[in-house]
Amino acid sequence: MAQFINRFARLPDALFARVKATPLSDSRLLLWNQALAQQLQIEAWQQQPATLAALAGDGHLVGSEPLAALYAGHQFGVYVPQLGDGRALWLGELAVADGQCAELQLKGAGPTPFSRGADGRAVLRSSVREYLASEAMHGLGIPTTRALALFASSQLARRERWEPTAVVCRVAPTFIRFGSFEVLYWRGETALLKTLADFVIEQSYPDCQSAPNPYQALLQCVVLRTAELMAAWQAVGFVHGVMNSDNMSIAGLTLDYGPYGFLDRYVPDQVFNHSDDHGRYAFSQQPRIGLWNLYCLGQALIDLIGKDTTLAVLGQYEAHYQQAWQQNMAAKLGLSEWQPDDAALVEAWLALLAEQGADYTRAHRLLAYFSSTEAAGPVRDEFVDRAAFDQWAQRYQQRLQQQALSDAERQTMMLAVNPKYILRNYMAEHAIQQLEQHQDDSELQRLAHLLQQPYAEQEEYEAYFAHPPAWAEGIHLSCSS
Ligand code: AMP
Ligand code: MG
Repeated sequence: MAQFINRFARLPDALFARVKATPLSDSRLLLWNQALAQQLQIEAWQQQPATLAALAGDGHLVGSEPLAALYAGHQFGVYVPQLGDGRALWLGELAVADGQCAELQLKGAGPTPFSRGADGRAVLRSSVREYLASEAMHGLGIPTTRALALFASSQLARRERWEPTAVVCRVAPTFIRFGSFEVLYWRGETALLKTLADFVIEQSYPDCQSAPNPYQALLQCVVLRTAELMAAWQAVGFVHGVMNSDNMSIAGLTLDYGPYGFLDRYVPDQVFNHSDDHGRYAFSQQPRIGLWNLYCLGQALIDLIGKDTTLAVLGQYEAHYQQAWQQNMAAKLGLSEWQPDDAALVEAWLALLAEQGADYTRAHRLLAYFSSTEAAGPVRDEFVDRAAFDQWAQRYQQRLQQQALSDAERQTMMLAVNPKYILRNYMAEHAIQQLEQHQDDSELQRLAHLLQQPYAEQEEYEAYFAHPPAWAEGIHLSCSS
């Protein structure tokens, strides 16, 4: 049985506020992640009404030490000196038998000292989206915070309209953000900053302890993990939507799902966040915004590392990102190794997808069935201009003939990295409508199940591989959640 050890709660009180959840008027369990519960050795919790109630914010979980963490961050490029967990509540850290630890957090469990006048709630719409996306990303093999449980309530919160609320219980090795360091740097709290850095190293990057300068090693690890995370997002077509530095995980996890989206058609400058007027967080911008945010973190750590070294460490990002991206794209195209000319081949493929408005996920999945002897396959039908595809296909065929892989081997390799099912916006939207309008959770349950295995053929779910319906284009996502 997992035990609470709560190491973060042992740090100085200035880093957080101890605060209790404010229960919702009535809440019911909508989703329970049994696989994750098993991994955390807490599967018995599902049978314990008082424990479940506490996970919805109603009551106390034995061993938990609830608190809201302090952080700041750069939002759309502008420094906001105090943010903090305004509607997230850290419950504690569980030590799981095999030496692993996991922190639990509630999102939407009421106001905290960091709520800045807002209600501390999360609406059902955004909670469903957070649960599904966390688990979809996990299924895809992309580092992310996880979702353990989703509770729905009939209590309403005011957004653009009055909406039902919910609580998500999420799980991560740590919820510390770049902004957790920024707030201390800009307040001149040097000793606290060092304490926090030491803690992060001990908890998340223990190997850094033996480095000549552990803080330099820490920054380097975060730079590399962030570069890899960005390369993973780009490869799968994920758009975070609000890459403010307070939403950047120190552990390189996808964190804080808001107005995110997975690309349907391949539109490099696609923006999902309705309030992102200038496309700062467009799909194509994410790798450079990742670096921009790392500069914010580097600035915060500069006194512990030194200016020149900080810049040198940040300077490793570009090459590492390129390498990770090339590795991902090589796998997606079934190339057993990246050769110098492959950059042009991949760029031409992406340009073709963009020009033809092809579906990013479908095109890659179907490319696995491309025949290198006939330069053909079902992927051709994804393009309006077949001649344009044929031109590229000839180049691809020549490239495939240079490697030793058989078509069958290449297909297996490609099907393992090109998902068949992603969480398209319309899918989440449909599940939310069913819930809100008909109190019907069957679509939600279906999606939660489907997305656990996005690379597997699941015949009963074939319909989710189809092109999105026309109404999907009209879905607007706002930051208000
Ligand atoms: P987000 O855009 O969700 O990453 O949130 C940015 C900041 O606003 C964080 O400090 C959140 O805790 C806070 N926040 C967002 N929504 C609410 C809310 N409904 N109540 C209190 N704080 C909120
Ligand atoms: Mg956030």
